[in-house]
Amino acid sequence: MTDATDKVLQHGALQDMVARILAAAGSSTDEAQQVAANLVLANLSGHDSHGVGMLPRYLDAVRESGLVPNTRTRTTLDIGSMLALDGQRGYGQVVGAEAMAMGIERAKKHGSCIMTLGNAHHLGRIGHFAEMAVAQGLVSLHFVNVLSRPIVAPWGGADGRFGTNPCCIGIPLAGRAPFVLDFATSRVAQGKMRVAFNKGEQVAPGTLIDEFGKPTTNPGVVVEPQSNGLLGALLTFGEYKGYGMAVACELLGGALSGGGTWHHPPDTSARAVVNGMLTILIDPAHLGTQERFEQEAAAFVNWLQDGPVAPGTASVLLAGDPERAARVKRAQQGIAIDGQTWTELVAAGATVGVHLAD
Ligand code: NAD
Repeated sequence: MTDATDKVLQHGALQDMVARILAAAGSSTDEAQQVAANLVLANLSGHDSHGVGMLPRYLDAVRESGLVPNTRTRTTLDIGSMLALDGQRGYGQVVGAEAMAMGIERAKKHGSCIMTLGNAHHLGRIGHFAEMAVAQGLVSLHFVNVLSRPIVAPWGGADGRFGTNPCCIGIPLAGRAPFVLDFATSRVAQGKMRVAFNKGEQVAPGTLIDEFGKPTTNPGVVVEPQSNGLLGALLTFGEYKGYGMAVACELLGGALSGGGTWHHPPDTSARAVVNGMLTILIDPAHLGTQERFEQEAAAFVNWLQDGPVAPGTASVLLAGDPERAARVKRAQQGIAIDGQTWTELVAAGATVGVHLAD
């Protein structure tokens, strides 16, 4: 939905604009285009929280040297089907794609690959990486932690202790679009709170606690320090089960990758967002189950979608369907940028000498 203060741009124009700003902030032309394309694809996919609205924060992180333009991964271990990589604080959109290309190549060769990537700057939409793998016929599992500020409360806790730790599973489906389940383990992504706050909206009950640990629907409690100087926190999805998934993402994406876990009070001044990711890639062709996998997967998905539909629901969807539908719609209708985000983009561009027309 758009309102009067939204600015609507076609995705190509938005990408060019973002690439110009990134290049002015020190990225090579190729890097600027790759990061811009990834951010705009997140907007196209309906995930504005991981789209071009991140750009001002990235520029701040570059200025603080928490994000280093034109950086590639460093391989710290390579034994064929196991890879350990250090993202060296490069743009996650770049080092993440580079790491995935290496992992995919290994999984194709050996049948599987376990790949860790530590110390990457913000990887953005994790589904992007699963989409790279399923496009090659591979199953792809991702467990990610977020080192930025502890914004999600543990089950039973009253303040934030870890990040929104996303988890993602991509499964190719023969003859139809893939299953791409990609979610934050918080009930909603933190960026969606920023978007809601910018729009002056309240959020659903059960999403947030305030700076005193009490339930609230005000997204501002996780966007700016409150009366006592503290932030509130997001809650995990699925109560203690989602909390368990979040901890698994921290232990696998943060500890196992060597990138590090969160275990200290927040540093509210630091703007960098650092991700660690464990990725497991499986080639069904090597596993010897390809034919049966394809038949059984298709039978199950058909079974799901042949069932009755709940009142008020148009159809039973598969994970990945909403993003694909959003891409079709937004490619036609353009991407709406809310007024606050646009103001922030204009200001960010000006800091590197790019002046956007209003
Ligand atoms: P979400 O709640 O919008 O969607 C999560 C998943 O649910 C998607 O796979 C979607 O296809 C599926 N889905 C949605 N509606 C459905 C329906 N009706 N039927 C079946 N499936 C459906 O996502 P989110 O939790 O807000 O996460 C948004 C993005 O934020 C993700 O891309 C995630 O990777 C990203 N993220 C990144 C970081 C980071 O640090 N890099 C941190 C947190 C989240």
